[in-house]
Amino acid sequence: MNENGTNGSNGHGVIEPAAEPAIENVIIIGSGPSGLTAGLYTARANLNPLLITGNEIGGQVAITYEVENYPGFPESLSGPELVEKMQKQAEKFGCRVEYDYVDRVDFEQFPYTVHTANEMEYKAKAIIISTGASSRKLDVPGENELTGRGVSYCATCDGFFFRGREVVVVGGGDSAAEEAIFLTRFASKVTLIHRRDSLRASPILQKRVFEHDKINIIWDTVVTSINDDDGKGGVTSVSLRNVKTGLASTLLTGGVFVFVGHFPNSHLFEGKVAMDEEGYLVTDKLMRTNIPGVFAAGEIQDKRFKQVATSVGQGCAAAMEVEKYLADLEDRSYPGYAALKAPAAATVTASKKF
Ligand SMILES: Cc1cc2nc3c(=O)[nH]c(=O)nc-3n(C[C@H](O)[C@H](O)[C@H](O)COP(=O)(O)OP(=O)(O)OC[C@H]3O[C@@H](n4cnc5c(N)ncnc54)[C@H](O)[C@@H]3O)c2cc1C
Repeated sequence: MNENGTNGSNGHGVIEPAAEPAIENVIIIGSGPSGLTAGLYTARANLNPLLITGNEIGGQVAITYEVENYPGFPESLSGPELVEKMQKQAEKFGCRVEYDYVDRVDFEQFPYTVHTANEMEYKAKAIIISTGASSRKLDVPGENELTGRGVSYCATCDGFFFRGREVVVVGGGDSAAEEAIFLTRFASKVTLIHRRDSLRASPILQKRVFEHDKINIIWDTVVTSINDDDGKGGVTSVSLRNVKTGLASTLLTGGVFVFVGHFPNSHLFEGKVAMDEEGYLVTDKLMRTNIPGVFAAGEIQDKRFKQVATSVGQGCAAAMEVEKYLADLEDRSYPGYAALKAPAAATVTASKKF
């Protein structure tokens, strides 16, 4: 074998076979709260887990400057601090963390194979998919720079910081309407900016929005930039353009909440693991996907709660179930074991481009 573990000559003209990667007990894909919790629990169960971080180390919460609703931290802490603590705790018990990105998986053959951007190939008896979800962005100047500093994708998480201030909500669906209503608890005024002349939100939500005296709507309008006019590192205004008249304007605001959609990071599993029509992986109560030994936790399979606390709980549950699955695998009694020998192609309920 050569250093790369590929087929090659040993210098004496003899071709040696490629080194087979070791078979891991469990590979966790994703380093957000659910993945790191799965890492902690599987490490404490002596499973010597391998966690592959992905490009967003620490996941979505790592981009918020303050987390006040994660139990156990009454003084609050920053998102990066919280996930750093989670990672430290998982590593303390032996979770191995690889800074890499999974670009291909093979769940047809057991043990399962995971390929990464750094050209590594891993094999494992169990997989926990914790690849989370991403908020769709506006893709306008200022958005990235001011995320966590006035730009937010989570009203439940960040609304509290805007007590007594005027904020903007961008979007016209259920999330935008719900979050606009939620934000009225804190903000002095909420301006909903929507690019069309009617909302997509359900009638009951629309009624609540229209009747709320703190909510104002600007129709047919898009945000063209988010501004930090005084250079202090926070949002002070948004630039707008009316899509019908082309008229440009500026609206002063202390915060911008973006709800123009959310998508699960599941493209990697298309055609391989069952997913719903929106691309969220389908799991049962034990966090099992339709592939035996492949589990999913956190926002990749949860489009309802979308919180650190719930993702942590799901990561914990998946890890505990993996522990049971691996133990039962030994005596072949784990439900669905028969399918491991010749797994049927995943039943995919929907196939959609993300
Ligand atoms: C700005 C913001 C602020 C928030 N604030 C709060 C808050 O205050 N309180 C709260 O409870 N919730 C908050 N949330 C929600 C919270 O962050 C999420 O619910 C939580 O992070 C979901 O955890 P997760 O582990 O399921 O997924 P994610 O956090 O989405 O993590 C997914 C992980 O998967 C990795 N990944 C993706 N694809 C691959 C791949 N192909 N290979 C390897 N790895 C991959 C990513 O790199 C990432 O590490 C906030 C969200 C945002 C966006």
